[in-house]
Amino acid sequence: MKIALRDSSLLRTNLYIDGEWRVPKDGRRIPVYDPASGAWIAEIAHASERDIEDAIQAAYRSWQSWKNTLAKDRGKLLRQWGEAMLQHKEDLGMIITREQGKPLREAVGEIIYAAQYLLFYAEEAVRTYGDIIPTPFEGARLLVLKQPVGPVGIITPWNFPVAMFVRKAAAALAAGCTCVIKPDERTPLSAYAVMELAHRVGFPAGVINMLTGDPPQIGEMLASDARIRKISFTGSTATGRLLMQWAAKVPKPVTLELGGNAPFIVFDDADIPSAVEGLIASKFRNSGQTCICVNRVFVHRHIAADFKKALEAKLEALQIGPGVQNPDVGPLIDDKAFEKVEHLVDDAVQRGAELSCQLFEPHSRGLFYPPTIIAEVQPEMDIFRTEIFGPVISLIPFDDDAQVLHMANDTEYGLAAYFYTNNPRRIWTVTEALEYGMVGINTGRISTPHAPFGGIKASGFGREGSKYGIEEYLVTKYLNWSGL
Ligand code: ADP
Repeated sequence: MKIALRDSSLLRTNLYIDGEWRVPKDGRRIPVYDPASGAWIAEIAHASERDIEDAIQAAYRSWQSWKNTLAKDRGKLLRQWGEAMLQHKEDLGMIITREQGKPLREAVGEIIYAAQYLLFYAEEAVRTYGDIIPTPFEGARLLVLKQPVGPVGIITPWNFPVAMFVRKAAAALAAGCTCVIKPDERTPLSAYAVMELAHRVGFPAGVINMLTGDPPQIGEMLASDARIRKISFTGSTATGRLLMQWAAKVPKPVTLELGGNAPFIVFDDADIPSAVEGLIASKFRNSGQTCICVNRVFVHRHIAADFKKALEAKLEALQIGPGVQNPDVGPLIDDKAFEKVEHLVDDAVQRGAELSCQLFEPHSRGLFYPPTIIAEVQPEMDIFRTEIFGPVISLIPFDDDAQVLHMANDTEYGLAAYFYTNNPRRIWTVTEALEYGMVGINTGRISTPHAPFGGIKASGFGREGSKYGIEEYLVTKYLNWSGL
């Protein structure tokens, strides 16, 4: 293992099942690489069918006592886990940077962000209130209880290898559910390190389990097993559909946080410097590999030239390099991601878009894709319809509100949208017209544990964070208490 840490025992490469680290039953392993250099870093466990079955059974068995553990005691463990993450944030950040590529500053930021979900849901655990309903029947009382849905299967991607699973697990555990978690096999080390901290703070055996292996096999087993009562997934729309189909066999509820195609609209009365700053913050975070990254930038024709000039100046100042050097932009995750971004830019340029700024030649620096601006993008180009997941800004001019709203909504996705204007009337009409789950108004930053994160249309359903997030893990039980 090639990552130097203060606490090297955070580096775990085996499965975490029923409260212990286990080698996979058939001994298989998966290599993990550093995207900045291509170097091998470690080999992690590939779960066998028996291991997956053990994890499901452990989550099911431990649920019988976890659901009856006092909410304040569940909250206490969540708080301790969050505090342990904050104590080890530098080491955890370093592991993320090495396996995922993002700048160290952002990786440590991810740890702080993830820990905040644990601290938030530590408090929310004690607030899963029910109701008493005014009775329509003589001699009866009607009550509503909120109870945990049961063991949850959690599957998460590589772009936020810690935060994506922690924000699900925090709400699920607070509600009284147990979990089987599958992080992405490209970025498992940071997730296992965070599991090591859960182990140290003393969650009862079986309450949280983590495994890696063959994604479709684990996904199908979790989704189609009746002991797992809920699936919570973040990733591509294609995988979300598959999980939903498997879950339909039981059937069981699913929460899906899928792809996005975020519009960023700059109206002609907007404050241009602040719009440029918001765009840079949203677009280049994690090298453009976030599901709420700006994907299409609509700029009013009157200000398009000024906006582009200001943007180019900012782009040219960006530092690009390995995450450990704390640049502004790191590498993409793998060759497939690189080829996808390259295709989208080539397709747009071939169909008439203008390559207005590209910091260096693609392929000249391994998996580092150059920050790029392309202008005059049109709806028929692939880049208009596809989540870019790379540091590329596509500019689209517009003339009026109706036209830009039509274009902004002209996508299968509906996760995040952003717009900049100083007109209060427009703020309200545009907010209501945008078909998206989240709207940033005069800001490019929206995600926080205090607010509901999630989408509509092909971006999925269900919410994470806030009081809404815990509802995903609760079922409503109605009692008719008669004979009184
Ligand atoms: P991305 O394009 O962001 O990598 P994926 O949907 O491929 O999105 O991956 C998100 C998560 O889903 C990862 O943990 C990955 O291993 C898992 N995954 C990928 N394919 C499948 C599948 N067929 N069944 C279950 N899980 C899958």
